[in-house]
Amino acid sequence: MSIVVIVDDRVTNRNIFSRLAASVEAGVVVHAFGDPVEALAWLAANTPDLIITDYKMPHLDGAEFIRSYREIPAAFDIPVIVITVYEERSFRLRALEAGATDFLNSPVDHHEFVTRARNLLKLRRQQLLLESKADSLEKKLEYSERTRDFDMRDSRKRLAQVIDTVPVMISAANAAGNVLFVNNQQADFVGVSPEAVINAPVSALFGLDHGARNHALDRVVVETGNALPPYEEEIVSNAGDKHVFLTTKSPLRDGSDEVTGVLTSSQDITARKKTEAHLRHLAHHDPLTNLPNRIFLVDRVRRLIARARRGDQQFALHLIDLDGFKAVNDLLGHAGGDRFIQTIGDRLRDTIREHDTLARIGGDEFAILQTRVVNSEDAAEFAGRILATIEACSGFEGAPLRARASVGIAMHPADGADAGELLKNADFAMYRAKAAKGHAFCFYAADMHARARSEIALDGELAGALEREEFVLYYQPQIDLATGGILGAEALLRWMRPGAGIVAPGAFLGRAEENGLIIPINDWVLKEACREAKTWRRGDGKPLCVSVNMSPIQFQKHNVPLLVARILAESRLEPRQLDLEITEGILLKDIDAVVGDLRRLLDLGVKISIDDFGTGYSSLNYASRLPVSRLKIDQSFVRNLQSETNDAAVVRAIVTLGHSLDLVVLAEGVETAEQLAALRAEGCDEAQGYYFGKPMPAEEFRKLAGVDPIAPRGNKSATGSRR
Ligand code: C2E
Ligand code: MG
Ligand code: MG
Repeated sequence: MSIVVIVDDRVTNRNIFSRLAASVEAGVVVHAFGDPVEALAWLAANTPDLIITDYKMPHLDGAEFIRSYREIPAAFDIPVIVITVYEERSFRLRALEAGATDFLNSPVDHHEFVTRARNLLKLRRQQLLLESKADSLEKKLEYSERTRDFDMRDSRKRLAQVIDTVPVMISAANAAGNVLFVNNQQADFVGVSPEAVINAPVSALFGLDHGARNHALDRVVVETGNALPPYEEEIVSNAGDKHVFLTTKSPLRDGSDEVTGVLTSSQDITARKKTEAHLRHLAHHDPLTNLPNRIFLVDRVRRLIARARRGDQQFALHLIDLDGFKAVNDLLGHAGGDRFIQTIGDRLRDTIREHDTLARIGGDEFAILQTRVVNSEDAAEFAGRILATIEACSGFEGAPLRARASVGIAMHPADGADAGELLKNADFAMYRAKAAKGHAFCFYAADMHARARSEIALDGELAGALEREEFVLYYQPQIDLATGGILGAEALLRWMRPGAGIVAPGAFLGRAEENGLIIPINDWVLKEACREAKTWRRGDGKPLCVSVNMSPIQFQKHNVPLLVARILAESRLEPRQLDLEITEGILLKDIDAVVGDLRRLLDLGVKISIDDFGTGYSSLNYASRLPVSRLKIDQSFVRNLQSETNDAAVVRAIVTLGHSLDLVVLAEGVETAEQLAALRAEGCDEAQGYYFGKPMPAEEFRKLAGVDPIAPRGNKSATGSRR
């Protein structure tokens, strides 16, 4: 239904226009006014769809009428047609300015009136339709925005609830190491309120030590932009309980994909670890005596062999088999036989030192791993004590029995290179002891004189080897884990023994240390390594470092700082390019003298590393007492980093300790990408191992390190003048 308003002071016109308007379309309602003021009064309360007005009227002309009408708020878009006899443009202009929509000339052409009116009404309807559509769209948008806000708020709340209730500690820190967020689980564990630690350094959450380590790992994530592989860590709770967690760290990114922080989540796996430890204990122990079993023993032998590489550590494997144990069972019954075995186990346990290992490896078979053996007399003396200990169990529980045993001894390295060979040879020796007369011990190498003779021969050959220039140095690259670049190499001694090929140092260093030849040999090593390193000039101008293994004997018998100063002067090598590797053996000399020597070496500008770190018995203590620059984690810990959580714990402890003392930490013996990833996660700074390169001739190392090809040694004439 459309409403049309007619305003005209003449009755005839009003009637004609009203009739015409009513005919425009069906359902048109017409309101006609003779007085424009009356019309305005009605229009103030009603909204028409079209107004048709005369121009020349008493009281108010057409322009004034339209202007007044347009002041009504709802009137601004209602079409208004003005009927005028005046052709003059000035009237039309006034009407347009006042807000007229269209004009009709008087006398009015009826057809034109109806067509104009119809078009304007149609336009008006379309306008109204559009308006209502826009209106509903706006309302819909408004509604949906409101509900989305609500949904978002709702889901955020739910997410926060989930984060606070999952049994996982979750926290986030920014790149500067300040806490951005902690969930309830973690806040409860450390006994703080989540609000209290926001913006505080992470040490507020983890304590100083753990906080520093945590921050160091965060830095790795921020710098690489990569998540860390999950790792296990031990954290002490507010209540003082130790818990084991499986922790992951992943980068938090902002809108432009920059890493701005690190999200850490730690899952408590204490219960699982306990079960694992229990199962491991069961798998490695004999249920009757609770002593280590064969599996455990073999593992210990393997580790000892790894540590005895340098040739200055011998050990003996004693295989003990009770003589006539069947008689014990016959006399006392099986339960009594078990008690006898337990008693023997207890007594033997009392005879060993803390670093030795006693195992029960069969029904009436025990084995003892005797470490720190200097010579075969040590082993023989100990075997005698074993026999006496067992014999003391004679008359057990009042039974008329003599406790006796046969002991077979295999020594490492002389009698076997691996655990299997040593066990086999000790077994062989044990049978010989039993066959001879029983209750005796027997060495695998029956003829100890033959052994002594071969040692004398080795001594002689070693003495000549230096003169005959049979020694060479191999170089093994050392890698900076932050950049992946080569930092330098460790110089490792090789003996080109005629008829024997390339001999590794483990086979002769022990003898050289015993007979004193280690001094001239190692002087040569130091000189040769410095001479070689002096030729190392890389394209980028960065100096490469050479590490030289020092023998404890040198520190005992020599003025090492003086020697090093002299060799540096001769070779003109920059002191910072030289690194000296020392071992715990150095402590055989009085510690104050050692500290003095090391200080003087550091003052020269050379670096000092503690080699095979972690294998010694007092490692963790002496690291803080000796002035050194680097710790080299022993390869035996790196080897089982994945499977043996104890080793991961040792590595972690060394890294934490090293960093707290401001030392660089290098991991030795890295063979796989998995070990490398684990070491990175632990925060190791440097690495060395077959994964990066085996010890290689100097020539090969120079190629690998990209040493300038026109370096002095590559050029024949220059070589001559240098030497
Ligand atoms: P070290 O100083 O701990 O040297 C590392 C030893 O581990 C080297 O054995 C090296 O070949 C080996 N190795 C390196 N990476 C890996 C790996 O990924 N897997 C495995 N399985 N082994 C790896 P090498 O050359 O037989 O030397 C044995 C030891 O002899 C050295 O242990 C060092 O203590 C001593 N040594 C070597 N050269 C000298 C020297 O010039 N003077 C003195 N006094 N001792 C030396
Ligand atoms: Mg070394
Ligand atoms: Mg080492």
